[in-house]
Amino acid sequence: MSVKILKTWDEHLELLRQVVGGFTDRRTGDNLSYSMEDIGLGAFSVFFTQCPSFLAHQKTMQQAKGQSNAQSLFHLEEIPSDNHIRQTLDPIPPQKLFPCYDAVFESLGQGGHWQSWRTLQDTLLIALDGTWYGSSKKIHCPNCSCLEHKSGDKTYYHSALTPVIVAPGQPHAIPLRPEFIIPQDGHTKQDCEIAAAKRWLENNAAHYADLKATLLGDDIYCHHLFAGALCCTVFTSSSSASLSPTPRSTTGSTCSSVRNWAP
Ligand SMILES: [Zn+2]
Repeated sequence: MSVKILKTWDEHLELLRQVVGGFTDRRTGDNLSYSMEDIGLGAFSVFFTQCPSFLAHQKTMQQAKGQSNAQSLFHLEEIPSDNHIRQTLDPIPPQKLFPCYDAVFESLGQGGHWQSWRTLQDTLLIALDGTWYGSSKKIHCPNCSCLEHKSGDKTYYHSALTPVIVAPGQPHAIPLRPEFIIPQDGHTKQDCEIAAAKRWLENNAAHYADLKATLLGDDIYCHHLFAGALCCTVFTSSSSASLSPTPRSTTGSTCSSVRNWAP
């Protein structure tokens, strides 16, 4: 299937604008002055600059000079407050952003760029790893995981499994659809990551089955639950390290080769 090849910053931004413009808008009454596109791009701009007070800073700049970077870089027509962004976007399931991951990834494939990442028997290396993207000792929500310290203190945090395609000597990584770690996934780092990795396989193995991919993971993934989950997907192992797309199989030989995948 032919997909649009994204080349410029503006083309990527337009993709994001289209996706967030399709988000369900639950606002009512007079609370509709900002478009969903501006709210979504306002949130993106915060993460892009890694500055939590970016919007307040932009507003100050705008008042001072008339034109802000938020408008020129991200094509924001209006600049919503960070509170308004949170209230509007919090109910949106993160999976609604997956079309952005898919479009960028497929665009790279359509442009022939995947070849730059192929290695190890001509496969693509998908590295699985978990990462925190927010934590606090005081502020928490129902979606927070919780780390209880021996001192009695607690750290509340959000984390996700963030699969990326990597290759030796390749300075860039290609992000694939993430899987969010939820409180029900467990209390230890290994329990949480394995549960999320199992879910990622269940939700995405068929989607990425044509890639001819090798999964990479640290010692956390040397776990029978993860190996078992591999056996139940369209990914199976044809050698001790590579996972190639073959018909669904749960044969003993496949499971044994998957176990061998653990170093
Ligand atoms: Zn939370």
